[in-house]
Amino acid sequence: MTAQTAEQRDLTAIIGLEVHVQLETATKIFCGCSTDAEADEEPNTRTCPVCLGLPGALPVLNEGAVEAAVKVGKALDSEIPEETRFHRKNYYYPDLPKNFQITQYDAPICDGGELEISVDGERRTVRIERAHLEEDPGSLTHAGGSIDTAEYTLVNYNRAGTPLMEIVTAPDFRGADEARAFLAKLEEVLEYLGVFDATRDGSLRVDANLSIVDAEEVDAEGGVSEDVLEEANRTEVKNISSHKGAEKALAYEETRQKNAIQRGREVEQETRHWDEARGITVSMRSKEAEKDYRYFREADLPPLRVSDWKDKIDIPELPEARRERFREEFGLGAETASKLTSTKQVADFYERVATEFDPGLAATWVADNLLGELHYRDMEITDVEDRLDEFAHLIELVDEDEITVKNAEEIVLRRMLDEELAPEEIVEAEGLGKTGEDVVATSVEEAIEENPDAVEDYDAGEEGALNFLVGQVMQKTEGSADPGTVNELLREELAE
Ligand code: ZN
Ligand code: MN
Repeated sequence: MTAQTAEQRDLTAIIGLEVHVQLETATKIFCGCSTDAEADEEPNTRTCPVCLGLPGALPVLNEGAVEAAVKVGKALDSEIPEETRFHRKNYYYPDLPKNFQITQYDAPICDGGELEISVDGERRTVRIERAHLEEDPGSLTHAGGSIDTAEYTLVNYNRAGTPLMEIVTAPDFRGADEARAFLAKLEEVLEYLGVFDATRDGSLRVDANLSIVDAEEVDAEGGVSEDVLEEANRTEVKNISSHKGAEKALAYEETRQKNAIQRGREVEQETRHWDEARGITVSMRSKEAEKDYRYFREADLPPLRVSDWKDKIDIPELPEARRERFREEFGLGAETASKLTSTKQVADFYERVATEFDPGLAATWVADNLLGELHYRDMEITDVEDRLDEFAHLIELVDEDEITVKNAEEIVLRRMLDEELAPEEIVEAEGLGKTGEDVVATSVEEAIEENPDAVEDYDAGEEGALNFLVGQVMQKTEGSADPGTVNELLREELAE
């Protein structure tokens, strides 16, 4: 770079992601140890000779992990091959007692694919290069928190052997916001498939490749040629553990590299570590090349025929499709439909109440009232999973006009959440049930509204029409009202 190029160049970031997600299975990928991590569990208690990598222990593939992987492949429109194989990726690290990780190399379970995202209202298709199965290593705790200054490090193999899926995208992101949108969408799809739990600590980990090219190298579709990519120096950012973290880390790295280039400096090809606490990336080590891992076939696991699995395994309707269907079927606006499909549990609950009661009323109750009050309490619908019948009953009470909307919203729903009471208990205790008077008054209004002919006749001086309306009200109140009062109320209403 010479001094005269110091004028601002128009630069663009090219980003690709490698996402590791933990698959939700009852047991680990190659042994029968539980994957259910208790919050306060003792280290090294969910282990056995297989996940501890003891000599002679043999792995047995978990069918549930393969099923979950096929579901992911179907949702991402991947090719599921005839046959898939496992490899050993060799490296020495204390969290990996075998000194190799069982992973997949040249025959991954999912080949290719795509996922559509939307950023600022614009839709983009992100290409998936591959997605494969592998085992999670154990976890390390550095005494004092930092690897540089720790006196010693503790290792815990409870996580070792948790099934992971590594999903690799093409370098299709042009900014941190797009990467974040992709991760959010991916999480949503995985949760819909029932193979992933976003609330689990460390359930999603991201490594990102980022390089900077001249904006003019990017074609109209946002593509960049292999040559340009080859030439640009790429950094890999590791240790990103959430989609919010990914956006921050990538925005930081994009700015750092652009600044360096604008100042005429060379960007180093290296691996950098995202320091979440400090909000910066730091240089880690030069990246291993693929050959350093000495991949070879895992002889303890035979090749797996998966060709007929994909027809046997069904996946549920995905969020995008469900959103569209809700809009059409229940007449919802885009924003409401989006809220009501934010998780499969919310969508399932809404669909249930929308088919039982008025869909519009149900939408307001689920999207605004229930989700709003849950959000306010920092809760999710999964926290009240076993009480959904009670919430459906509350919506029924409103739908059938047995309590007022205001009371339902401001008293019953809130007490239901704060005190874990059933709606009828609260209605009873607070005396919120509509009184006899309310019922008669509503019935009078309805009778007038529903019988315009009788009203016209009455206005024209026909007293008989009033008797007809009294009869209608008596019918609505199932005979519980006093005919004299009804007569009076009708005259008052009709005089207005
Ligand atoms: Zn085990
Ligand atoms: Mn991996």
